[in-house]
Amino acid sequence: MRVDTDDFARPCSCGKEHHIEVKEILIEAGAIDQLEEEMSDGFLREYISPLIICDTNTYEATEEIMEEIYDRCQVIVLEAEGLHADNYAVEIVENNMDDDIDLILAVGAGTIHDISRYVAHKYRIPFVSVPTAASVDGFVSTVAAMTWDGLKKTVPAAAPMCVYADTNIFANAPRRLNASGVSDLFGKYICLADWKIANLLTGEYYCEYVTELEEKALKMVKSSLRSIAAGEEEACEKLMYALILSGLAMQMVGNSRPASCAEHHMSHLWEMEVINSRLEALHGEKVSVGTVLVLKEYKRLAKLIRQGKCHARAYENEDAQLLRDTFGKKGLLEGIVTENEPELLLEVNPARLEACLPQIADIIDGLPDEEDMLHLLEKAGCKRTVYDIGLTEDAVPLSLRLSPYVRRRLSFLRVSKMLEAE
Ligand SMILES: [Zn+2]
Ligand SMILES: [Zn+2]
Repeated sequence: MRVDTDDFARPCSCGKEHHIEVKEILIEAGAIDQLEEEMSDGFLREYISPLIICDTNTYEATEEIMEEIYDRCQVIVLEAEGLHADNYAVEIVENNMDDDIDLILAVGAGTIHDISRYVAHKYRIPFVSVPTAASVDGFVSTVAAMTWDGLKKTVPAAAPMCVYADTNIFANAPRRLNASGVSDLFGKYICLADWKIANLLTGEYYCEYVTELEEKALKMVKSSLRSIAAGEEEACEKLMYALILSGLAMQMVGNSRPASCAEHHMSHLWEMEVINSRLEALHGEKVSVGTVLVLKEYKRLAKLIRQGKCHARAYENEDAQLLRDTFGKKGLLEGIVTENEPELLLEVNPARLEACLPQIADIIDGLPDEEDMLHLLEKAGCKRTVYDIGLTEDAVPLSLRLSPYVRRRLSFLRVSKMLEAE
């Protein structure tokens, strides 16, 4: 299927004129042939010195099907084992790329895309996305999630000029990767609720249309979970389309607000390794575990609100010592403190919060129950518990308390620091 990006770029009731940078998105078997043709005789013909960035796994998976494209490009194959989107990987690319590179092709999943879009942005080179698995929603995103000297940062980056997602490649990706894409998508339940609540409390910008797009993506995937787990082509195409929709939603808003909040903050916290050692889990896997933990906490709070046992109070900074003991030990305190200035919760008026509690409970009631969520994740073969990703139960309370600090973005989890239960 060809996604017409003009459909999404239009003036909107939210007051913004949504802008989409991706020109062409193709999701189908044989998309690679189309890419080859564009490079030979089409709109990509003008680029005479293209560079492919891939890793040892994605090279192996695409070597045959993309043979002719590899032949005409400079190729940098990064070692897949231990590969991260960090300053180290960026350096390898910078040290090896030819001087005259005028186009970058990202052939891989999330990490390869983050590295490629960062480099593309830095050197002002257009880039083309060739996703090898439906594992994340970031293929068309305009920001890159990078680790810079140990600190997770979301940095401005280039959106791809076009996406060629070939079903023959991504439907055959390891099952774990596509399950991880489902996980990343299910995190939207939490972040959309967070976005609505933030809008309610502080008047933060919000777009109903973008929310509907994300909800449409969720619905589409929810009905095909077993088929995705079985690697059925049509179902995997639906997943890829849903993930790309989610990425377009981010482009339309200009940041990751519609696709990342409390559940992603958990994942980022664990990646900073301040309360745990290194986890051998994929991005989406951490997101689904974060989603379940946050969901459970939100449901607990909503119940207390309904029972009249939960009330708003003025913000007080009670975590300073804890931040020093955790982030401080890793030399990350300064980064965290800077990220959080000025304090987000000072924007939340306690009286307003108290008045909004019933509406907040309504928003949370609209989320699936914990049991339903666990069942959905199970169907798709997703990770669900802390043990699945190498954590233990001890990590839960600290994760709930610390994760809201990894990004200066208002989540209900952060707001819950202004709630008092009887
Ligand atoms: Zn809008
Ligand atoms: Zn994500």
